[in-house]
Amino acid sequence: MTPPEPPDDARVLEALFRLHQGLPRQGPGTDEATAAALRGVPGGGRDARILDIGCGEGRQTAVLARASPERLVAVDVFPGFLEAAPPAVPDALFCQASMTALPFTDAGFDLIWCEGAAYIMGFAEALRAWRPLLRAGGHLVASECCWLTDAPPPEARAFWTAAYPAMATVAESAARAAAAGYAVVATMTLPPEGWWQGYYEPLMERMEHLAPAAQGDEALRAVMAETQREIALFRRHGSSYGYVFFVLRRGPEEA
Ligand code: SAH
Repeated sequence: MTPPEPPDDARVLEALFRLHQGLPRQGPGTDEATAAALRGVPGGGRDARILDIGCGEGRQTAVLARASPERLVAVDVFPGFLEAAPPAVPDALFCQASMTALPFTDAGFDLIWCEGAAYIMGFAEALRAWRPLLRAGGHLVASECCWLTDAPPPEARAFWTAAYPAMATVAESAARAAAAGYAVVATMTLPPEGWWQGYYEPLMERMEHLAPAAQGDEALRAVMAETQREIALFRRHGSSYGYVFFVLRRGPEEA
C-alpha cells in the first residue's frame, strides 16, 4: 500500500480558510489592543489615509474605521473573508489584493496596519516591501509573534523553528525594523486573553463543529491537528512567546 499523498498547498489553504471563516477574528487580538496601538500613533490615526493589510474579516478594520472612516482601505487575498467583512465598516474600501503585490501608489498612506499577517512574508521583508507606500514620516503598525524570553523552552523553540523559522525576540525584531528604515516608536505585547478569548476559544469550538467533516477531508484533518498542537503549546509555554505590536515611523533612510 502506498501512503496517501500529502494534501497539496491549495487544499491546505482551503482548509485554513474553512476553519477561520466566520470566527470573530482570524488571528490573536483584541479590540482594546488595536485601539491602544492606534493611540501610539500621533493623532491616533484620525482621518489618516490607512491601509489595513491581511485584514481577514475586518475585526481590526472596524476599530481603525472609528478613527478614519472615509480614508481606509483594507486588503486580503481571500475574497471569502472580504465578503464576510462587518457592516460596521460601511465606508472602508475592502479590496482583494496580495500583500506581495499591493496595487497602490508610493507614499499614498499615512498609516499602514497589519495584525497577525506580516509573518506571511516575514516581518523584515514585509516592512521593507511596504515602506515605499508610506509618506515620509508616516507610521506602520504591525503585530508580530516574538519570543518574550532569550531562553525559550526547547519544545516551543522546536515548534516555532518549524512553523516560523524567522521568529525573533522583541529586541531582534525591533533591530530588523530599524534596519528596514523605521524608527521604533513603541512596542506593546498582546495579553493572553487576545489568544484565548479572541482566537483559540472560538477556534476550538469551530474544530468541534467541523470534526465530522474532517473525517473525509485529509487537508482539513491535517490543518486541525496542527492547530491543536499550536493551542496545546500555547497552553504550556504561552508565556515564552506572544504577539507584539510594533508602532514604527518611516525614517528617511533604509539602512
Ligand atoms: N488581521 C486579521 C487576520 C489575520 S490572519 C486578524 O487579526 O483577525 C492572516 C490574514 O492574512 C488572513 O486573513 C489571510 O487571508 C491573509 N493573507 C494570507 N496571505 C495573504 C496575502 N498574500 N496577501 C494578503 N493577505 C493574505
